[in-house]
Amino acid sequence: MCKMLSVVVSVYNEEQALPMFYKATKSVLESLEWDHELLFINDGSQDGSLEILRKLAKEDERVKVIGFSRNFGHEAAMIAGIDHAVGDAIVCMDADLQHPPECLTEIVAKLHEGYGVINMVRTRNASAGILKNITSFGFYALINTLSDVKFEPNASDFFAISRQAADVLRKSYRERVRFLRGYVQNIGFKKTTIAYEAADRVAGESKYSIRKLFAFSVNTIMCFSNLPLKLGIYAGVFAALMGMAVMVYTLLTRKGAPSGYATIVILNCFMFAILFVIVGIIGEYIAVLFSELKDRPIYIVEEKQNFCDGIGTFCPTAHSDTPPHP
Ligand code: UDP
Ligand code: MG
Repeated sequence: MCKMLSVVVSVYNEEQALPMFYKATKSVLESLEWDHELLFINDGSQDGSLEILRKLAKEDERVKVIGFSRNFGHEAAMIAGIDHAVGDAIVCMDADLQHPPECLTEIVAKLHEGYGVINMVRTRNASAGILKNITSFGFYALINTLSDVKFEPNASDFFAISRQAADVLRKSYRERVRFLRGYVQNIGFKKTTIAYEAADRVAGESKYSIRKLFAFSVNTIMCFSNLPLKLGIYAGVFAALMGMAVMVYTLLTRKGAPSGYATIVILNCFMFAILFVIVGIIGEYIAVLFSELKDRPIYIVEEKQNFCDGIGTFCPTAHSDTPPHP
């Protein structure tokens, strides 16, 4: 029996890119041995994206559309796509053609070989710019040092998973503060990578500012590592050792520590700075706990196109979903 590939595409203000994306992707999908469905998740776009998607859904029954009630973020859109996909395998990709649709042929070949998780690794990111490339390198170096699980640097939100792997993401990993790409890399299954060259955006602008990426990186570190929480212990031990050294010096020389107003003020500022940073880190972890506890939905669906009743519908309340931690 012919297998089906579900292609999940997150869309946020992509009215210019969508027609080009549909044309390019559809022609590749039609050349595949597998049947396909194209699942577009409209993440609360304010431009004409939803109208374009409705039109595509009318013309092509393989196009399915899920419209969110507001913007929930790229990851929430991918999660909704995974929840609603009915294919034997799912591919997540961006709508701006930075993820070349031609790779789908190679992905299907790997799926045939029995791979359950296929990570697409960027060899070059033409439009990212030096700053984004350097910060991305720094982020992966840091997270790989801090976390027990290891991440593939240059992995992207372009990946393919089997139905079995998708089931894991449907039932577990329903976290509010999350790193979907990281989960995909760490759920196991037979895994492989495919290298691809990220193209330039065909139209529009990147929705990820450096500020957004920074907040995302902090969340991810908290998501995968408890090490920052241990900073307090290390700082305490360091302060105690310093105090003891001064004490021994005072006793042995009977001269006393270097005295003076400036020394005391500098030491005070230094110690308080460490203290407040640690309190701040604990605060961030409490914020994560709080948002998990509130159990708000990851996404809210307002409309669906081309979904037959009962098929491909997934009850978000049963698995509870929420927007990312602000
Ligand atoms: N996107 C989304 N919701 C958002 C931001 C982005 O669904 O809040 C989509 C966007 O339409 C695109 C993909 O996520 O298809 C990746 O976004 P973008 O190209 O802006 O990120 P970059 O490639 O610059 O990292
Ligand atoms: Mg992009």
